[in-house]
Amino acid sequence: MRFLLNHRRYLLPFRASVRTAHGVWAEREGVYLRLEDGQGNVGYGEVAPIPWFGTETVDEALGALEQLAGNLDDEQVRLLPVRLACLKGGLTAAIADARRTEETNAARPGVDFLPLAGLLPAGRAALAAVCDKADAGFRVFKWKVGVEDAADERAMLDDLVAALPEGGRLRLDANGAWDRRTAQRWLEHCADRPVEFVEQPVAPDSRGADDLLLGLAGDFPTPIALDESLVRDGDVERWLGLGWPGVYVVKTSLLASPEACCAALSRARARVVFSSALETGLGAKAALGHAFAWDGERLAMGMGVWPLFEDSRFDGPPCLPFVRRAQVDDLNPENLWNALS
Ligand code: MG
Repeated sequence: MRFLLNHRRYLLPFRASVRTAHGVWAEREGVYLRLEDGQGNVGYGEVAPIPWFGTETVDEALGALEQLAGNLDDEQVRLLPVRLACLKGGLTAAIADARRTEETNAARPGVDFLPLAGLLPAGRAALAAVCDKADAGFRVFKWKVGVEDAADERAMLDDLVAALPEGGRLRLDANGAWDRRTAQRWLEHCADRPVEFVEQPVAPDSRGADDLLLGLAGDFPTPIALDESLVRDGDVERWLGLGWPGVYVVKTSLLASPEACCAALSRARARVVFSSALETGLGAKAALGHAFAWDGERLAMGMGVWPLFEDSRFDGPPCLPFVRRAQVDDLNPENLWNALS
């Protein structure tokens, strides 16, 4: 079946800049996709790449869209280069959306709500935020590290641990900022603290990164989670083949074939944390759909990011300690598409 294809580029300022080990991120750039078949069926998708994470750029995705010249079939999506994973994933989601019917919606397996981790700002601002989020009911918190001096951050970690509610746990995300020695110091420090896991301690493209990550996972009791290491084509399958003992952080918006990745992870009984790529509500609907369809262990998701945008029309579901399936169903891609005109 052929589809008419339209797209709209977006550039949306965040309400507050996001600080990571890669610097300050002030606005989200991406592309909305709209497909229409000859029978009045419409489907939407979002392309929300993060180039510093290892994806294509928005300009690369737009270049490929221009070559498609406004129409599309499944085979053309399949033939797109693997480098354009976000575009492939967005087009695939749009086609699935156009083919979705009331029956397929009603037949969805899964639960009615999923738990969320509370996202803390980097640095000392996390201390006030952890108290607010604990009051709101969160028990799992994620803190960005590798942003300030490592020794200062380890001292702050102890203040954060002291501020945790009963049963509270922290996830640390270094976004690949550390070298081997810094990662070892951190993992020693975390060993007897309530740290659920340390996410991406070293960069995926540093020399010997796979062996270093496997070594760290074997040497310390705190589990390690892979995130940036899972973005390129075939990464998930490769780590499954290596028998990765830690957690897989899965940003389905950055994957060319999220269904296939989730199926492989499910078969391996992997520990998976579904995570936001700071996409808008349109992409979040698809990403949360994958999380709701997951049949394995349900770890708190890294999707508690909204409200995120200055223009709140582009936000996903509000940030409570859980997200309900009905909130995801309520996200209306057509409204978001029209909001860009
Ligand atoms: Mg991460």
